[in-house]
Amino acid sequence: MPGFEFFGAEERKEVNDVLETGIIMRYGFDGPRKGVWKAKELEKAITEVFGSKYAQLTSSGTSALTTAFAALGIGFGDEVIMPAFTFVASFEAVLRVGAIPVLVDIDETLTLNPAAVRAAITPRTRCIMPVHMCGSMADIDALKQICDEHKLIFLEDACQSIGATYKGRHVGTIGDAGTFSFDFVKIITCGEGGVVLTNDESVYTKCDGYTDHGHDHLNLDRGADQHPFLGYNYRISELHAAVGLAQIRKLDKFLEIQRKNHSLLRSMLAEVPEVSFRQIPDPAGDTCTHLSWFLPTEAHTKAFVAEMKAQGVLPGNFYWYANNWHYIKQWDHLKTATTLHAVSDEQKAALLKLSTTSFPASDAIMSRCISTAISLLWTEDQIREKGEKMVAAIRKALQA
Ligand SMILES: *Cc1c(COP(=O)(O)O)cnc(C)c1O
Repeated sequence: MPGFEFFGAEERKEVNDVLETGIIMRYGFDGPRKGVWKAKELEKAITEVFGSKYAQLTSSGTSALTTAFAALGIGFGDEVIMPAFTFVASFEAVLRVGAIPVLVDIDETLTLNPAAVRAAITPRTRCIMPVHMCGSMADIDALKQICDEHKLIFLEDACQSIGATYKGRHVGTIGDAGTFSFDFVKIITCGEGGVVLTNDESVYTKCDGYTDHGHDHLNLDRGADQHPFLGYNYRISELHAAVGLAQIRKLDKFLEIQRKNHSLLRSMLAEVPEVSFRQIPDPAGDTCTHLSWFLPTEAHTKAFVAEMKAQGVLPGNFYWYANNWHYIKQWDHLKTATTLHAVSDEQKAALLKLSTTSFPASDAIMSRCISTAISLLWTEDQIREKGEKMVAAIRKALQA
């Protein structure tokens, strides 16, 4: 799955370009940097590869989401509808800008169920945020339709699905804004980093300032810049951007290998009639970072997990239902509103309410779901061996 599996001379060369000038900051120092602008170069490459008009690099996917919310004008008292299955960063960013995360059920796309979204809309809803989980995509047309009907902002958390497409367009570029993460385990990595994608110039200009203390970036001398609004430091460094530049050039190769490995493993699991697969709104656009599949019951799934554990081959088979990072069931810090900084009374009330809200429809899906991470490094023999072990464990689990 992650770009770090293919880390080598190309990344070292790009980083060395920066080390040779010693200018590891992305702004200013125009003379000594001798024409080396890795962050600017990566932003340009991102707009070209993914087809968004603008790209603003940030220090992480989490800061990209926070920046996107701020630039889209989402804040105090606004409700953001998001899925109960995601990575914790999605709600962290909502809370950071003062907004209220409204968690709703997923369906077999493993992200927002459009009917659950409709049912959650209130007069305070401002934004719908699907999270394109595990390399694939949300039911984008259905969700966008709801946004259009209710005049809501559509923000795509595409942090896990760099390179996925939906009806020919890259996810992350379809909504009012979208985000990617380039953390160490994402499809392409900078070590740490993220990006906000948008086609809206005013949203982009706000992202540009917000991530750098509000600078308008109109002067050679940073000290002479105006600050049209308050910002923060969510900058990426030149060293991180340099790594990303080498990685983005490998994206097509990563996707090709992932798709090939995924297809072989999928065909092996498909021979077991009790196995079903995640619903993928546009199968041709799946990045295939994971193969996500279901067993008929929670008990069967738990038996499979136990069997894989016993054989020492659990790593790579993710059972998100029991995982502390990805599913609402385990988010105790969120449900008890345990924060270091104050949150608004409304935010607190919404979080505490989550501790008594149940998500039976999502439980019924997540408790039967396994996501198998697809490695870029597997040989065909290794995939066959892995597939055979998994099929044997599945057959055993089905008899339990
Ligand atoms: C990784 C991830 C993020 C946050 O990215 P970081 O770069 O780790 O801050 C946000 N959302 C999702 C769905 C992610 O998987």
